[in-house]
Amino acid sequence: MTTQYKKPLPVPQGESDVFWQKAKQHELWLRRCDECGKAYFYPRDISPCCFSKKTSWMKASGRATLHTFAIVHRAPTPAFADDVPFVTAIVDLEEGPRMPTNIVGIGEPAPEKLRIGMKLQVVFEDATDTITLPKFKPA
Ligand SMILES: [Zn+2]
Repeated sequence: MTTQYKKPLPVPQGESDVFWQKAKQHELWLRRCDECGKAYFYPRDISPCCFSKKTSWMKASGRATLHTFAIVHRAPTPAFADDVPFVTAIVDLEEGPRMPTNIVGIGEPAPEKLRIGMKLQVVFEDATDTITLPKFKPA
């Protein structure tokens, strides 16, 4: 959590500012469609289900299940060289949306511990003073 962070970082936009502000507080927040009640990810002003501008923010439970994953053995850029192998994944949040993330806290060898459908819990990696990344670990 310093200026030493060399990996690419998300750039908060107007529609996602709350998401990143809450992540900084170690909370996972989603956008919800007020027309039908569905939560969705990524955060945006118009809901993908009803194309409605009536949306609100909601705090997510942080619970999810593993939908799919890949083990990355070859760093996509030199910035990730110290991280390989690492796990990229798509998780099903308890509230419904799917979210791309990383699975952490599984030690090595990672693949043997990963199972589709396994229960996960959000954890937060403070990358810089302004960006905190939501990741998931086994629940
Ligand atoms: Zn909707």
